[in-house]
Amino acid sequence: MSVLDLARPELLALQPYSSARMEASGGTVWLNANELPWAQAQSPELALNRYPEPQPPALIERLAELYGVASDQVFVGRGSDEAIDLLTRAFCAAGASNVIISPPTFGMYAVAARVQGAAVREVPLRADRDYALDVEALLAAVSRQTRLVYVCTPNNPTGNVVPAAVLLRLAEALRGRAVLVIDEAYVEFADADSASSLLAQYDHVVVLRTLSKAYGLAGARVGVALARAEVIQLLRRIMPPYPLPSASIAAALGVLHSEARRAGAERLRLICQQRAQLRPALAALPGVIDVLPSQANFLVVRFVDAAAVYARLVAAGVIVRSLHKYPGLHDGLRISIGTPEENAVLLSTLDSAQRAA
Ligand SMILES: *Cc1c(COP(=O)(O)O)cnc(C)c1O
Repeated sequence: MSVLDLARPELLALQPYSSARMEASGGTVWLNANELPWAQAQSPELALNRYPEPQPPALIERLAELYGVASDQVFVGRGSDEAIDLLTRAFCAAGASNVIISPPTFGMYAVAARVQGAAVREVPLRADRDYALDVEALLAAVSRQTRLVYVCTPNNPTGNVVPAAVLLRLAEALRGRAVLVIDEAYVEFADADSASSLLAQYDHVVVLRTLSKAYGLAGARVGVALARAEVIQLLRRIMPPYPLPSASIAAALGVLHSEARRAGAERLRLICQQRAQLRPALAALPGVIDVLPSQANFLVVRFVDAAAVYARLVAAGVIVRSLHKYPGLHDGLRISIGTPEENAVLLSTLDSAQRAA
């Protein structure tokens, strides 16, 4: 059995859209895509009058090298959000398929499924076991209609890592039954290896990576799916004609240069060091119940009165994320790690607000 047996059969037969940029390359006189022949004076080096390459080979090469996979195992799109959307469309049939998520977790998995008309099965994390994945319950929830099983590690918002042994067990158990989607948006901040080594053995594993978080490119929208070549080819069949704007491709190549990567590694260390300092400082504040341990670039703080704290922070111009909609974490605020100066403002604002309360 191949992972493609889980895909929508009509997509395997679909004649994909073929863009001008795909049909021909090379040459010097480009008259095939109805573009204007002049570059914009403001940014001539980007040649924004031309359509971008749909899957730019130079960027794909760099990403493959960065993530330690072959270049035919890389799909690059408009954020990993686009990869989630395309995976959902590729594997889930409206009104028939389901996906499995383990809340509290990233919201896009369920939204993408519902937009596609797929059902969402929820297998909550074990709040009584440090938000560990409930592997038994998860496997019990898999049905013949299940297509995607999402695991987010480190998880947003709980910040914990799913152990490699658990991922391996899931990969084994889901073979031939569902695609295991491992979202590693925050793995650069964690003391954990990527699960991409699973691709060698399992054709039904997809690993999501992004340049939005650790590489500081959220505004450029560059996300990656790593999977076996047949899955990547399927995503490329159904992707929009030109997923990535030229400016985003240039920005991505910029942060992947070795010099930029050295500076980036330094910043990662600073974020992790700030996280280590901030956690006990937050835990010591009055009105704080608990600060969840985190392997990502945020901390979840549970307060006696989270709504009041949130309002006081907003009034002081400090914006954090309320978790009131997350079952089991309704008293939590998710706080991204900022610069040392921003973290100091956060602490002093919380401290004076709590003392005044
Ligand atoms: C931020 C985030 C993403 C989205 O990444 P983009 O590449 O910016 O779309 C994906 N997964 C999780 C868990 C996230 O928190």
